Amino acid sequence: MSDVLDNDHVHGSLSEVRQDLVSGDWVVIATGRAKRPHDFLRQKKASFRQPKRTCPFEKPHADALLTLASSGAGGKKIERWVEAIPNKFPAFKRGICNIFHNTGPYQWTDGVGNHEVVITRDHERSIGQMADAEVELVVRAYQERYRAIKRGDCVRYISIFHNHGQGAGATLSHPHSQIIAVPVVPSDIAKSIRGSASHFQERKECVHCVMLKFEQSDKKRLIYENDHCLVFAPFASRLAFEVRIYPKSHLSHFEEASSAEISGVSNALRVSLGKIFKGLANPDYNFFLHTAPVDGSSNFRHYHWHFEILPKTAIWAGFEIGTGIEISTIAPEDAAEFLRKVKV
Ligand SMILES: [Zn+2]
Ligand SMILES: [Zn+2]
Repeated sequence: MSDVLDNDHVHGSLSEVRQDLVSGDWVVIATGRAKRPHDFLRQKKASFRQPKRTCPFEKPHADALLTLASSGAGGKKIERWVEAIPNKFPAFKRGICNIFHNTGPYQWTDGVGNHEVVITRDHERSIGQMADAEVELVVRAYQERYRAIKRGDCVRYISIFHNHGQGAGATLSHPHSQIIAVPVVPSDIAKSIRGSASHFQERKECVHCVMLKFEQSDKKRLIYENDHCLVFAPFASRLAFEVRIYPKSHLSHFEEASSAEISGVSNALRVSLGKIFKGLANPDYNFFLHTAPVDGSSNFRHYHWHFEILPKTAIWAGFEIGTGIEISTIAPEDAAEFLRKVKV
């Protein structure tokens, strides 16, 4: 079934979402972000840390989709503490969805979706340096925009992520997160959903809840806990100092989290990133949300939404790229013990 959302944007798609014929994995070829082969040869020396006066995020955005004011330190209101704006160089935009094309044996679809940026007002302070109430507005903005984007017809999955530092892929130093809605269920998510589903079918329990219960009692990998969330280093950490933040109560869909749970996860995010900032001397990192895909069905109720933080402590080399097996150079138990002790 196809659906025309916006005729103006039908032609000149920005990207193609192509499926690997063997693995079934989806990749995005962002043709609209036009790079020519010789662009890859030039070493980009552009400065990552922009001064405030040339920072594109400083001016108020007339096209803001959402703005939230913070009460600020000492009760001083900061207008537009959080702004959600359309991405100026989107990888995905609205168009005709659910049309899958074939090229020989291959399958692909247009990069139909959504691409937004969530900015915080402070040019310098990252999430780990903010106050709980400030982080809470960021996570509320994530949830509000998630709910709004979910109403779009073409959306199958909504990814919310944050790149901190040049090594983590950020192109602007001013703290910002991104929300990308895609027309397919990404392979990593599909794999986790399948794992959760098969565990649920066999044992009639959520595999994530099993993990939470064990980590809470075992305590070896526990980093932080509040009323609503548990923060721990995963048993099979892919990278040194990998951190996961889970809501304690079972819930598959992030958009359904209660306001108390959003407060809890905001505090846990602030504490976790604060510990990483302070304990590891402000490393680059990525964090992202994992939540159930968007399809309006109850098929994904066995899933359990959470955030994952991956500090950039290593780069993928031949073995990792060739096998998908990552080598973490510190035991998760030691990483957890170290982060547990960092006071924030
Ligand atoms: Zn700025
Ligand atoms: Zn669960």
